[in-house]
Amino acid sequence: MGIRVQNIVKRFGGFAALDNITLDFPSGQLVGLLGPSGCGKTTLLRIIAGLESADSGQVWLDGEDASTAHVRERQIGFVFQHYALFRHLTVFDNVAFGLRVRPRKQRPNESAIRERVNQLLDLVQLTALATRYPTQLSGGQRQRVALARALAVEPRVLLLDEPFGALDAKVRKKLRRWLRNLHDVLHMTSIFVTHDQEEALEVSDQVVLMNQGRVEQIGTPNQVYEQPATPFVYSFLGSVNLFRGRVQDQHLQVGESRLPVANEGFQVDAEALGFVRPHELDIEIDLSNNTGVIAKVERILAFGPTTRIELAGVSPQSNPLYEVEVSHERAAALRLVVGQQVRLKPARIRLFAPESPRLDHGQGFPKIDRFTGVDGEGI
Ligand code: ATP
Repeated sequence: MGIRVQNIVKRFGGFAALDNITLDFPSGQLVGLLGPSGCGKTTLLRIIAGLESADSGQVWLDGEDASTAHVRERQIGFVFQHYALFRHLTVFDNVAFGLRVRPRKQRPNESAIRERVNQLLDLVQLTALATRYPTQLSGGQRQRVALARALAVEPRVLLLDEPFGALDAKVRKKLRRWLRNLHDVLHMTSIFVTHDQEEALEVSDQVVLMNQGRVEQIGTPNQVYEQPATPFVYSFLGSVNLFRGRVQDQHLQVGESRLPVANEGFQVDAEALGFVRPHELDIEIDLSNNTGVIAKVERILAFGPTTRIELAGVSPQSNPLYEVEVSHERAAALRLVVGQQVRLKPARIRLFAPESPRLDHGQGFPKIDRFTGVDGEGI
C-alpha cells in the first residue's frame, strides 16, 4: 500500500515541527526517514499512524484520504525504540496478543492463531525462545518480538521509529541486515526513522532527508550520498572539508591558492563554498606551485582500513582543521611527519553558493562542527 502525505503542517505553539511536508512512500518500499534530532521525523510518523493530528494537510493511504481515520482503521503496525512488551506474557503470547484481543467476529480460532504466531516466530528466528518472558531476552531479541507482534495483525504498513536505537553498535548492525532481508521477503511498505546516516543508507530503498521540519532531499542511498542537493545533506551524510573562495574559469581561488574545479554555473568571481570529502582530498609534498591549499600535518591515524590525516591550515583563508583519508599504501609512500607542510589538492569539489538558505543554522550541521571558523566566521 502506498502512502502520500500532502502539505502537512504541524505546530507546537509558535514552532513549526513540520513545515508543509509533501512526500510519497511507494508501495512495497522501505523508506528511511533521516535527519538530526528534533527535525520532525517522529511527529511525521505519528501523523501517518493517526496517533497525532496535523494542523493542516492530508494523509492518503492507498489512494484514499485517511486524514480523519482512526488509528485502528488505518491498519498500521508500529515498532518503537522502547517497545513495551507485556512482561507477564511469554514471547508467544506477546505475538498472539493483537489477534486474541480482536472482537469475537474478527478473531481467528486458536489453532489459526497458533499457526500464524509460529510462522512469525520462524520469520524473526525466535521459535526456540517462544516460552521465554521478555526479561529473559536480549534487547535485539525483544525488538524482534516487537516486530513479530506488529506483523501479527497483518498491517498494511509498517512504521519503525528508531527500532534499534537503544541497542549497542554491533547488535544494531546485525539487526539492520536482518531487517533488510526480512523486508525483501515481505515487501511491506515500511518507513524507518533513524538519525544514524549509515543505518539509513544501508537499509533503505529510498532516503528522505529532513531538517527543521522540511524535506531537504529524496533519493536512493547512492543518489543522496553522491549527489547531495544541499550543503546540509552533504554535511549530514559524512565528514567534509570546506574551502571558501571565489570561482574563476577553471578553479576556485582560495587566498593565494588555486583549486581546480568545473565551474557549474557560477558567475566568474562569485563567492562559493567548496565541499570535499576526506577521501577526495589528496596530499602533495611539492610546495612549489600554487595549486592546492597549504596545511601542516598534525596527527596521523593509521589504524583501521585507511590512514586518516588531520592537518591545520596555515594561511588566514584556511580551515583550522582538514581531514584527509588515504590508503595505507599512499600514506606509506608520502612518508609524512607531524609538523610537515604539504599541499592539499581535491580530486573533486562540489560548489555551493555561500548564501545557500540552509547554511546558517548550527543544529543541522552535526558533522561540520569541527570546521566552524572557516575564514574566521562561524557557519
Ligand atoms: P528525535 O530524533 O530526537 O526523536 P525527531 O526528528 O523525531 O527527533 P520530533 O520528535 O518529531 O523530532 O520533534 C520535532 C520537534 O517538535 C522538536 O523540536 C520537538 O521538541 C517538538 N515537539 C514534538 N512533540 C512536541 C509536543 N508534544 N509539544 C511541543 N513540542 C513538541
